[in-house]
Amino acid sequence: MKQGLLEGRVCLVTGGSRGIGAEIALHLAQNGATVAVNYLKDKHSALEIVQKIRRIGQKSQAFAADVADPKQVEKMLDDISGEFGQVDILVNNAGIHRGGRIHLISPKEFESVVDTAIMGAFYCSRMVIPSMIEQRWGRIVNITSVMGLRGWPGDTAYSAAKAGLIGFTKALAKEIAGDGILVNAVAPGYITTEMTSAISERGRQKMLEVTPMKRPGSAKEVAETVVFLVSEGTYTTGTVISVDGGMGS
Ligand code: NDP
Repeated sequence: MKQGLLEGRVCLVTGGSRGIGAEIALHLAQNGATVAVNYLKDKHSALEIVQKIRRIGQKSQAFAADVADPKQVEKMLDDISGEFGQVDILVNNAGIHRGGRIHLISPKEFESVVDTAIMGAFYCSRMVIPSMIEQRWGRIVNITSVMGLRGWPGDTAYSAAKAGLIGFTKALAKEIAGDGILVNAVAPGYITTEMTSAISERGRQKMLEVTPMKRPGSAKEVAETVVFLVSEGTYTTGTVISVDGGMGS
């Protein structure tokens, strides 16, 4: 990987305190970026990532905010711009998983999955886009899922939210391509993180059965794709790149 590709760029990674988001934050920093690490509750883990980034020699700070709450998002973006300046690269990674058959998942649970994925991406994107338009440069990457492409039984909320995020990505990409802003999505398959370790052994086994590569992916493999999209994918917008060991194909 070329060093310093993202020198001078300010990135915000939502849900950057652990799992895929933390790895994305580290990879962006390794490429020279300043990184704002957003988290919901786990300040301790967020600060650990911030320390790792600072050890790499880049600027970083943790910012608490529920991305599904527009007021908290607005305050977070104000705080980030006061600390580091305008956000050049936004990674909408924050997401939650609530499974269960359609008659068992509660409306509140369903709503929270959709709100975090879709409303979160909407609130964060609308706050950073005006300054991206002004400078005629910006990158947005939305972390969707193979479930949003192929659907998964017992996962209507999660599949609907992630499919919605893909529609959001495609529409927004077309809307702002002329302003120098590229918008793409990354669709991971089964990646080893806290989110998937909460799934039953049987559920994980089922995911492996439909993964041609017969192994879970790593957060690093997702992060490398994000770095490509924000630094080198200069003629790529409105697309979904799968990082899923063949699961969605
Ligand atoms: P984790 O559950 O390990 O981490 C989730 C992160 O999101 C945490 O940093 C958490 O913060 C944060 N978060 C959750 N809700 C909010 C919120 N409302 N506002 C701000 N931050 C929030 O998840 P993964 O790393 O596994 O997943 C990251 C993304 O990748 C998600 O969008 C997920 O749907 C997607 N994905 C994951 C796959 C996998 O196999 N793991 C497969 C496909 C997609 P805190 O620590 O403070 O709670």
